[in-house]
Amino acid sequence: MEEFSSLREQSQSLGRGDCTSLELTEAALDRAQRLDKALNCFITLDEEKAVAAAKAADQRLQGGSAGPLTGIPLAHKDLFCIEGWRTTCASKMLANFTAPYTATAIARLQDAGSVTLGKLNMDEFAMGSSTETSHFGATANPWALQRTPGGSSGGSAACVAAGITAAATGTDTGGSIRQPASFCGVTGLKPTYGRVSRYGMIAFASSLDQGGVFARDVEDAALLLSAMAGFDPRDSTSSAHRDPWLESVPERGVGELASPTLTIGLANELFSEINEGAERLDEARRALEALGCRCRTVSLPHIRTAMPAYYVIAGAEASTNLSRYDGVRFGHRCEQPESLKDLYERSRSEGFGAEVKRRILTGTYALSAGYFDAYYLKAQKIRRLVAGDFAAAFKEVDLLLAPTTPGTAFLRGELTDDPVAMYQQDVCTIPVNLAGLPAISLPCGQHEGLPVGVQLIARHFDERRLLQAGAALQRATNWHKAQPSLEEAS
Ligand code: GLN
Repeated sequence: MEEFSSLREQSQSLGRGDCTSLELTEAALDRAQRLDKALNCFITLDEEKAVAAAKAADQRLQGGSAGPLTGIPLAHKDLFCIEGWRTTCASKMLANFTAPYTATAIARLQDAGSVTLGKLNMDEFAMGSSTETSHFGATANPWALQRTPGGSSGGSAACVAAGITAAATGTDTGGSIRQPASFCGVTGLKPTYGRVSRYGMIAFASSLDQGGVFARDVEDAALLLSAMAGFDPRDSTSSAHRDPWLESVPERGVGELASPTLTIGLANELFSEINEGAERLDEARRALEALGCRCRTVSLPHIRTAMPAYYVIAGAEASTNLSRYDGVRFGHRCEQPESLKDLYERSRSEGFGAEVKRRILTGTYALSAGYFDAYYLKAQKIRRLVAGDFAAAFKEVDLLLAPTTPGTAFLRGELTDDPVAMYQQDVCTIPVNLAGLPAISLPCGQHEGLPVGVQLIARHFDERRLLQAGAALQRATNWHKAQPSLEEAS
């Protein structure tokens, strides 16, 4: 099998009998072991479990009951619980936690026959934009090892960009799929809030968290979404909305745009955030116009207030969600506590890293009696205004086009002492989470040798148009085929 093969190519080879799942899995394990010394994208690799799953998939392939994901090696962000697997959320708090059950999104991928190779590195509890807050060390960007892969799903982006697996899962609360996809030159899809069940995803900010995927191209991302999506009685916020188009993707593919004369809004305020790669985004716009789309500028007047509102809301929800790590029920417990209070305090102060503590402190502050109205309530009002901006724009345009990030991958260590500059990395992605919309980051060339990403944003549950436009762009261009040389890493 060729290096950097897509999921569909792997699936076709398996279907023709050109290779077995065991061969694919062993090749991926080898590549992971070879590259991970430099990349550190895996927290856990489990050869034994992967080989057993591959053998089961090979039987299914022989028995004729295989689907497009059967036998395909995948890796998952270490925030998805998988029964019997260590699931750490990249925190010392959960460094020895073995999940007793499997997240619905992953169970669906496994039921479809995919092979779980391992669990991927991330920022601790998904809080960060560089995969540097991980208790298990930072991940490197396959395009330039001294740079970050973005975050928080940096391990997932690096794994796919390095060609270890054709696809990987991630989660996006404020940009954690799209920003690393952009930094690593891969396709990253954040579905509509409620599209993919959050059951078994370790919670950061429940009203924003959404699982999604990294892949080589839009067609592969759509195939994975089709398997992961759907109502789950165990997640009351998962949507009962059925999407016959999404269900038909494994048989028919993403398909052509029903009408190529889409109107695409250029999100003016987000374009003004760009400091690198503006020419590349211009080329992406021109490529869409060449396909027949009409582009026009639109204004989202409240968008600049989204970032501070997000950090109040996400922090508030995190402070509540993370109260469960008390050293009693599970997770890190301090040695020889002197009292219950001492047990709580020391377990939490030893188990959490600095960024997680910062979120818990600011979030608790925003929710406390005297400050609730001034911070939390105000942030919720801003959230409504931001969602309203998108709703108004979508009365006039079918999709929005925006940069994914202000610039290309920054150097490791460059922003670690400046949390606000780190938070700024997500100015273009966070508004989408506040509004719960689906969005995708697509590679659109390079700036000084580093990948640039372009973001498409759609109406709620309009993944069809989002993915069809993305696929049309990828059929007309070659940007998504660029690969890092990996010379430094091998
Ligand atoms: N970088 C943002 C944060 O730190 C987004 C994280 C995410 O999407 N999980 O909160």
